[in-house]
Amino acid sequence: MSVLVYVENADGKFKKSTFEVVSYAKEIANQLGTSLTALSIGNVADGALAELGKYGAQKVLTVNNDKLKSFVNQAYASIISSAAKAEGSKVVVLAASFSGKGLAPRVAVKLEAGLVDGAVELPDLKDGKFTVKKTAFSGKAFAHVELTSAVKIVSLVPNSFKVVERPEAANVTAFESTAAESDFGVMIKDIVRASDKISLPDAELVVSAGRGMKGPENWGMVEELANLLGAATACSKPVSDAGWRPHSEHVGQTGIAISPNLYIAIGISGAIQHLAGVSSSKVIVVINKDPEAPFFKVADYGIVGDAFEVLPKLIDAIKKFKE
Ligand code: FAD
Repeated sequence: MSVLVYVENADGKFKKSTFEVVSYAKEIANQLGTSLTALSIGNVADGALAELGKYGAQKVLTVNNDKLKSFVNQAYASIISSAAKAEGSKVVVLAASFSGKGLAPRVAVKLEAGLVDGAVELPDLKDGKFTVKKTAFSGKAFAHVELTSAVKIVSLVPNSFKVVERPEAANVTAFESTAAESDFGVMIKDIVRASDKISLPDAELVVSAGRGMKGPENWGMVEELANLLGAATACSKPVSDAGWRPHSEHVGQTGIAISPNLYIAIGISGAIQHLAGVSSSKVIVVINKDPEAPFFKVADYGIVGDAFEVLPKLIDAIKKFKE
């Protein structure tokens, strides 16, 4: 009986969220006194697969054929569930990423397992129970969910668990695809990247701006600050609704939910629907000219001031610091 962790890749490379999820699954395996098996689907080099040992995977199963190069929800779910059965895994861990959110419930159905999606902490195993803290109501609350099923699935929110190195000698083994022809009903034909920018859901630093920026012509400052920090850019809903920024940048209840290490909110009021998607950020910095703006209540650091004065000074200061 091992813990199984599904390791997601992007263009054959593992993301930081993958190492987080392996570190998290390793800790669960240690608590349960068992080993950790990682499962990779798609074209990842052997060296990268073996590197998963650095984060605690003792065994790495790899499935690779042309049809599985791109993400296919049903097929991937079939393979993950058959790998869990083959390994006798009672716990399966995935990232609560775009694809993880689609996979976790499908795998849960196939394994007749209980699922906690959006875990933010390690499970509490006191008294033989398996209770997981997860976000609820779009991040406005936390729920502690006890899983009582024989097989348990947990998906972990990116940026909620630190990468921990616990070196193991990882043994990389090929695993036969168990996906049926019917699993390939919907397939990705082509991926067109909207831009080369840092992907918002995975970003550790995010610079976000709202209606206080007055118009799209003023986003140069926001982008300059983001570039200097190596951050992704985001925005409030009205900004994307007005077409000032693309919808892919809209964060909040009806947009993307993120939990970066640093979230800088510029000219955003902090409406509850916006906070729903960003309040689990580790450090929140708010720049707003209205000292009564609700965002200040959840901010770790606040600057009361006009963004058009504060941003150029901040950009200058960071440039000087970097010199
Ligand atoms: P505003 O509310 O107009 O706030 C602008 C802020 O900028 C103000 O606080 C102002 O003091 C400040 N400001 C103005 N000028 C300056 C300046 N020169 N310098 C510094 N600060 C300045 N919103 C989201 O963001 N995400 C969601 O997912 C979302 N989902 C929603 C779902 C529903 C069902 C509903 C009803 C609403 C949703 N909203 C969402 C909208 C939300 O309620 C707010 O209307 C929205 O977040 C406000 O955006 P804003 O803060 O950019 O604009």
